[in-house]
Amino acid sequence: MKFLITAGPTREAIDPVRYISNRSSGKMGYAIAEAAIAAGHEVTLISGPVCLTTPRGAKVINVITAAEMFAAVQKSLLKSELLIMCAAVADYKPMNFSQQKIKKQKAPLSIALEPTPDILSSLKLPDRKIIVVGFAAETESLRTNAKKKLRAKNCDVIVANDVSRAEVGMESDDNKVILFFQNGETRSLPRAKKKALAPKLVTIFASLAEKS
Ligand code: C5P
Repeated sequence: MKFLITAGPTREAIDPVRYISNRSSGKMGYAIAEAAIAAGHEVTLISGPVCLTTPRGAKVINVITAAEMFAAVQKSLLKSELLIMCAAVADYKPMNFSQQKIKKQKAPLSIALEPTPDILSSLKLPDRKIIVVGFAAETESLRTNAKKKLRAKNCDVIVANDVSRAEVGMESDDNKVILFFQNGETRSLPRAKKKALAPKLVTIFASLAEKS
């Protein structure tokens, strides 16, 4: 099957040397890409800036900003059967990019931010069925927020993880996730290395695509 996977953070520039981003390492998305390739699937990986080795056999498209990721996803979607939106897309970007490095001052500095487009909810999906998987990193009310995102972002599955705990989730090698499906079913996967969790996720996603 043809997997389109996004991974890592996006970066939104403030000036030539500064940016807004988040702590996403890209490890979960890269592990899913590697597991999908190992299972014989075709993988396009759209990656934000990360320090990871490119998975062998994947077609990799490197992007920096949320807008670049949006354009790359929209373009590659036409050839894909599954979209796995594992990337931690920056929700805000500076309203104005300063062409020159902003000088340090004594006074407090405010930077006006505007929302980036929500990729999942703004995609133009092709007529044929595509399995769409969203990820939700939550620090509170995991179930309620994940279920809300399942509906709001038109996903077939939301993979939710609790990022309030340092030992799993963002930046960590381990993860512990709960999957929320459109039919109301949920499935918890116990804490494991992201590399061990990834093949299980790939099997679940591929079986959804087979059924559709
Ligand atoms: O709303 P939140 O950022 O928590 O949702 C997470 C999910 O939405 C992830 O699958 C992420 O890749 C996706 N997302 C998106 N566009 C954004 C922000 C998040 O597609 N601007």
